[in-house]
Amino acid sequence: MAKSVKEIDKKYVTNTYNRYDLEITEGMGVNCYDIDGKEYIDLSSGIGVNSLGFCDMGWVASVTQQVCKLNHTSNLFYSQPCALLAKALCERTGYEKVFFANSGAEANEGAIKTARKYSFDKYGKDRNKIITLINSFHGRTVTTLAATGQDVFHNYFYPFTEGFEYAIANDFDSVKKLVDKNVCAIMMELVQGEGGVIALDKDFVVNVAKLCEANDILLIIDEVQTGVGRTGKFLASEHFGIKPDITTLAKGLGGGLPIGAVLAREKCADTLGYSMHGTTFGGNPIVCAGANYVLARIDEDFLFSVEQKGEYFKEKLLQIDGIEDVSGLGLMLGLKLANKKSSDIVKEGIKKGVIMLTAKEKVRLLPPLVITYDEIDKAVAIIKSLIEN
Ligand SMILES: *Cc1c(COP(=O)(O)O)cnc(C)c1O
Repeated sequence: MAKSVKEIDKKYVTNTYNRYDLEITEGMGVNCYDIDGKEYIDLSSGIGVNSLGFCDMGWVASVTQQVCKLNHTSNLFYSQPCALLAKALCERTGYEKVFFANSGAEANEGAIKTARKYSFDKYGKDRNKIITLINSFHGRTVTTLAATGQDVFHNYFYPFTEGFEYAIANDFDSVKKLVDKNVCAIMMELVQGEGGVIALDKDFVVNVAKLCEANDILLIIDEVQTGVGRTGKFLASEHFGIKPDITTLAKGLGGGLPIGAVLAREKCADTLGYSMHGTTFGGNPIVCAGANYVLARIDEDFLFSVEQKGEYFKEKLLQIDGIEDVSGLGLMLGLKLANKKSSDIVKEGIKKGVIMLTAKEKVRLLPPLVITYDEIDKAVAIIKSLIEN
């Protein structure tokens, strides 16, 4: 008898993921279907990736056209989708230059290399320390694990990259205490995603930005999860009124294809020169064609609708008995439950046809940005039944 996908996967795929008992076979918009044809409403977007939902028709057309025209060139040559995406990102954000990577962790690696090289050029090799925040998440490479301010990630893989120190989020004094002549960068998320959907205080963020500016310390904002419209602004930094020296993007940028981006301001736009950084797949034409379509769709009206839908969703969730608090910005929401375990609710949710995420003790929702009000109502009704029963 033929083995099930689940059995094959368990036998042959390295067991690093604790998968739910669900095999998804296809999807359209916010809905997807399992092998039995059961429908699910997806409030996870493949962890913030499917910004336009499953298989958006315009996105599929853009990617398909590109697949048929030119699949890959290597970075030894020019190609249009990559150049146009860089231009669109810079025009959209006010940044000067973009480096393309393939994931969030890689984008953060690129940001860290940029900050260290910038400081090396101006101040020599000892000025290399980077301050990050406790409870942050920046990726799974050996260096980005070191950047991640959570002890659980600092195990097994010794030695970790040196030069990271951790401050307390929303405690400006704890940041100041760590700043000395050898600090080259401060790196943080504006809404800690994996850490529990916790938005930083505006005052704290503004003070950190000023401190960086005054000391020629580069401010790196990790918008791998918050970027590209997730919070209702193109970049979450717009909510805080800051202009970071470097912003990293990934998850939602490709609409379902792997991409990362390091956006650099004028100050450090030419810090990385020939042969100092690179990656085989970076700027791949197919991936960039998908991202170009995502950017074209996420215009000002679209962003406004994300903000509005986020408010609406939050309001509806707060009416549910058993939800104590809803944190986050835009369509990045964290549900604090009064007396249920988030992991149980997510598991039960799958049975009832809704896909959600956890983040620490919270239920985390990252619905496709195209979700409609009707779909939000439908999702809220299911969540209500899960939590109130
Ligand atoms: C997901 C995430 C990363 C890591 O991205 P990968 O694509 O998994 O490498 C880094 N930073 C933040 C804020 C993230 O949410």
